[in-house]
Amino acid sequence: MLSFDNTQVAFHDKSNSELKKAWWLFRMIGNPTLVKAGAGLTRFALSARLPVSWALKPTVFSHFCGGETIDSCDPTIARLGRSNIKTILDYSAEGKETDKDFDYTRDQILATMEKARNNPDIPYAVFKPTGVARFGLLEKVQAREPLSIEEQQEFERVKGRYLTICQRAKELEIPVMVDAEETWIQSIVDEMVEEMMIRFNREKPLVYTTLQMYRHDRIGYLQSLVERMREKGVYTGVKLVRGAYMEKERERAAERGYPSPIYDDKPGTDKGYDDAVAFCIDNIKDVAVCVGTHNELSCKRGAEKMISLGIARNHAHVSFSQLLGMSDHISYNMAAGGFNVTKYVPYGPVKTVVPYLIRRAEENTSVAGQTSRELFLLNTELKRRKQKRIDG
Ligand SMILES: Cc1cc2nc3c(=O)[nH]c(=O)nc-3n(C[C@H](O)[C@H](O)[C@H](O)COP(=O)(O)OP(=O)(O)OC[C@H]3O[C@@H](n4cnc5c(N)ncnc54)[C@H](O)[C@@H]3O)c2cc1C
Repeated sequence: MLSFDNTQVAFHDKSNSELKKAWWLFRMIGNPTLVKAGAGLTRFALSARLPVSWALKPTVFSHFCGGETIDSCDPTIARLGRSNIKTILDYSAEGKETDKDFDYTRDQILATMEKARNNPDIPYAVFKPTGVARFGLLEKVQAREPLSIEEQQEFERVKGRYLTICQRAKELEIPVMVDAEETWIQSIVDEMVEEMMIRFNREKPLVYTTLQMYRHDRIGYLQSLVERMREKGVYTGVKLVRGAYMEKERERAAERGYPSPIYDDKPGTDKGYDDAVAFCIDNIKDVAVCVGTHNELSCKRGAEKMISLGIARNHAHVSFSQLLGMSDHISYNMAAGGFNVTKYVPYGPVKTVVPYLIRRAEENTSVAGQTSRELFLLNTELKRRKQKRIDG
């Protein structure tokens, strides 16, 4: 049976000094006061145009990111590839506001696809909806507020970027995943992604939407999506995550007096997540799923479901995905067990990637047990190596 306990497998391509560095990093980001102060200081330094790279690059950046450019991720891609872990290059620009920025991000996505072409170590591309569109515009469109002529044209340009990316995905046969964001822009993103799926997923799943299973409406949406796509003779591509904006969602709902879209408790989210994974695997004939999680139990349940149904571990329609620098014990052990595994490898100029890094640090601080689990695993491996040296 699948086990994630083997730290020798999990860290076999890391040196002792890399493990020690990771240990210190997780020790620091396990401290909420330090993370809060660090995040505040970094945001301030950025807004004051003070240099931050010297502090971030050798620490959090080098741990959670592949590099500042696509090509500088090569060593990471090759290293993961040697353990049969594939890379999803993730250009991590957030909070951009201008067409120039959005076109630049679109071009980065296209460049990641070009990089993926003929490179079996890069099986997917990805983009974030607000990487290619202004948040406020998506919010306005979703709220069905009247748009000015300029805004209508701006929205057409957004749709144009989706089309260019998905068209290229089809030409190069590189599936592309569209990340999920806040509920107040997600419905319009869903609409656009569904349109792309209908257009490009006829022969194989090339466009993947993302479902945040902390939302209680998502299991129903998943079932209806698969049904609607099936009726059209189209594959459904879906990445399943729990969701990264829980506090923000709850706060907004409370402030504006509408029911929270998020399950009331963690077990609710966990059940929603595992049910969705099981549903996708049950419908594997016309559903392709990327199980995006650091939750051991969800990965185990997904893997066991595949095994119980006699589905090949490397079936092209199922992959498991984690973020670079997190949960290597899951990624490396699953890959060694023959499952399809990918890592999101964020890249971009240090300054651009800061919001992503702050989210990672905050997530590791707030997700109960995540940091202590990383520390425990790193410790176990360092001790195992020491014992091995003693034993000769
Ligand atoms: C490959 C990959 C891609 C991702 N892409 C996206 C994306 O496109 N969009 C996005 O939003 N996120 C994305 N994420 C992040 C993801 O949504 C989670 O925030 C993160 O992975 C932690 O969840 P988990 O399943 O790994 O682990 P777990 O530790 O099991 O779960 C933590 C998560 O459970 C939920 N949760 C925690 N407490 C409660 C509670 N009290 N009530 C209800 N729910 C609770 C929250 O979603 C929290 O993040 C991605 C993650 C991965 C690994």
